[in-house]
Amino acid sequence: LPMLAPASYTGEDVVEFFCHGGRMPARLVVEACLLCGARAAGPGEFTRRAFLNGKLSLDQAEAVADLIHAEDELAAAAALRQLQGGFDRELDAIEGPLRELLAELEGSLEFAEEERIEIPPARQVQVIKDALSRLEYLLDLAPAGRHLREGVQVILAGPPNVGKSSLLNALLGEERVLVDHEPGTTRDVVTGRRRRGGVLFVLHDTAGLRPDGGRVEKMGMELTEKACAEGDIVLLLQEAGLAGAGEDGMSAGWPESEGQTVFRVWTKVDLVPELNEEAGPGEATVTSAVTGFGIEELWDRILAAADRDRLKEVSSLGVLLNSRHQSKLIRCRERLADLVVDLNREAPGGSRGPGEEVVATLLAGILAELGEITGRVFSEGLLDEVFSRFCVGK
Ligand code: GDP
Repeated sequence: LPMLAPASYTGEDVVEFFCHGGRMPARLVVEACLLCGARAAGPGEFTRRAFLNGKLSLDQAEAVADLIHAEDELAAAAALRQLQGGFDRELDAIEGPLRELLAELEGSLEFAEEERIEIPPARQVQVIKDALSRLEYLLDLAPAGRHLREGVQVILAGPPNVGKSSLLNALLGEERVLVDHEPGTTRDVVTGRRRRGGVLFVLHDTAGLRPDGGRVEKMGMELTEKACAEGDIVLLLQEAGLAGAGEDGMSAGWPESEGQTVFRVWTKVDLVPELNEEAGPGEATVTSAVTGFGIEELWDRILAAADRDRLKEVSSLGVLLNSRHQSKLIRCRERLADLVVDLNREAPGGSRGPGEEVVATLLAGILAELGEITGRVFSEGLLDEVFSRFCVGK
């Protein structure tokens, strides 16, 4: 099936072969093509060509990879929106006014100093501040984008034998983890995935938080602390029957990061019958992996903490920020904020700001950096990095 330029995915002439069922006919056709001098495509080569031929922006190309890797409907919808130009539109709303300001500055610089009608610094500041607040909004969407792409990370932590592995199995609804009576059975971080309410959750069982364990357990502890620090939702487990359970003396033991939710969970409540009827004191959710008590309530709390409305907003906008986009946006935010400070500063001669020439140069630099997100500005290294995520072919 021939698809002629420019109306093909890559924008070049493309021929597709359709074979009879089974792998063998397809393999023989590929081998025949190779014998005739064709070469196998590298990872992401088709999309790379589509980008180089102006069919897609770089973030749209990244959305193709996100679409391929998407594990649930919301994530796929988000990637599709991005592929349709959702993120490009948001970026354009930031870049457009900055580009106009740059054009005005450059226009003004064409004139000799004494004839120049200066653009008031206050107006320049206003344009930059508008761009900054739009940029801030995009950066606020970053965590939800990560949740859609990678899943919401839920960490189960607590002392050995508290019932972490059992609770993980109960939350997953399957026998995922070996449960043992010996404390310290789970030394590595064991994960399981489950979709609830259209959202992907990745649950991590951790080694017990026990200060006096052996060398291997110490390594497990380090892994646990790292997992806890990086988790979006941390379930801090404690046995319901133990003295002092539920008192708020249970400290997290790692620096809680911004946006992280920590829940206290009581386990093994079936062993303390008098607790079955009532919720635990404070904010703890009372559970039993044996009877299933409290498991649905715990899921409700986890779902609420995952902020589905935010995920839907990101999905409908089509703004799935990855770490590359995020670091570029953060850098641009810093540079724009510095520029505002410079513009508000009184210069020695009584005039305000660093002068139009300097502002124009700085703005051009910031626009170039923003341009790397869509690929308006790119290097081979950047493309290699982006397309290495692709599977062979696509
Ligand atoms: P971990 O070391 O924190 O992962 O704890 P495990 O999940 O391996 O459980 C330790 C022990 O407690 C095992 O003997 C489990 O059968 C038991 N256990 C775990 N959850 C419950 C529960 O809800 N009720 C009861 N009665 N026993 C439990």
